[in-house]
Amino acid sequence: MRLAVFDDSRVGVVRGDDIHDITELVPPEFDSWPEQRLNWLIRNWTRVADRLADPGKFPVVAASSVVLRAANPAPPQLFAIPANYRAHIGEIGAMAITKGGRTAREAGFFLKAAGSVSGAGEPIPLPAGSARRFDHECELGVIIGKQGRNVPRERAMEYVFGFACLIDLTMRIQPGEFEEDRSLRKSFRGFTPLGPHLVTADEIGDLGTLTSRLSVNGEQRQGAVLGDMIVDVAEAIELITSVVDVQPGDVIASGTPKGVGPLVPGDEVAIAIDEIGAMTLTVTEAAAAPRPF
Ligand code: MN
Repeated sequence: MRLAVFDDSRVGVVRGDDIHDITELVPPEFDSWPEQRLNWLIRNWTRVADRLADPGKFPVVAASSVVLRAANPAPPQLFAIPANYRAHIGEIGAMAITKGGRTAREAGFFLKAAGSVSGAGEPIPLPAGSARRFDHECELGVIIGKQGRNVPRERAMEYVFGFACLIDLTMRIQPGEFEEDRSLRKSFRGFTPLGPHLVTADEIGDLGTLTSRLSVNGEQRQGAVLGDMIVDVAEAIELITSVVDVQPGDVIASGTPKGVGPLVPGDEVAIAIDEIGAMTLTVTEAAAAPRPF
């Protein structure tokens, strides 16, 4: 099943050019906290499965008439895996925290602010007036389906609810100058586009055979086979849950292959992953903030 979060965080099932609006499955109390609707649905998925057997009976809207929000607009936690493709490690030299050849297996995970997620219908706003370098990272987004603690990799895929394309935007460090923490540099609003839809795990065949690619203004910059990840999705879940519990709706950014590169306002960034989907976003400039970067 292909789920869309749209407009005021309504939730729908995508069928071709239509979206069947299933928001009525979520308790009406969530109308005052709409960003949490999808988390409620994931958490209660087995309870609503019967009513979802025929999505066609729910009200339909044209996909072209809605604004797509993040595949999960309010992940409880947003984990990210660094240095997870050998060809990426070291490619940006002193601008990378991961210099020295360490992989995700040694470096573990880091956190992005969950508030950095955005959707296929939204822009990527770079901090106003900044002279810094902002890079795209083409990644598979993994959405967690149930609470997990100390999950061995052999059972980890049971904890995956679904997948989406994910761009991990990064403000690069400036060699020799003050280095902001990675969590700040990757957490600006709109720095984690996640979409265009949430594709449930049962729709996906062999994850390792899928390819991901990212282009800027029509020119391909990144492309990889997901099977080339050093720490695969199952090992990432084993790693994370050895430290802290995962929760329904959590998102994991699984790491970028080589080819990261800069973005400037006006660029069009397109990301696609086989069987999962494709989306194109426009890079813009954010409104001025009290603290410039
Ligand atoms: Mn990344």
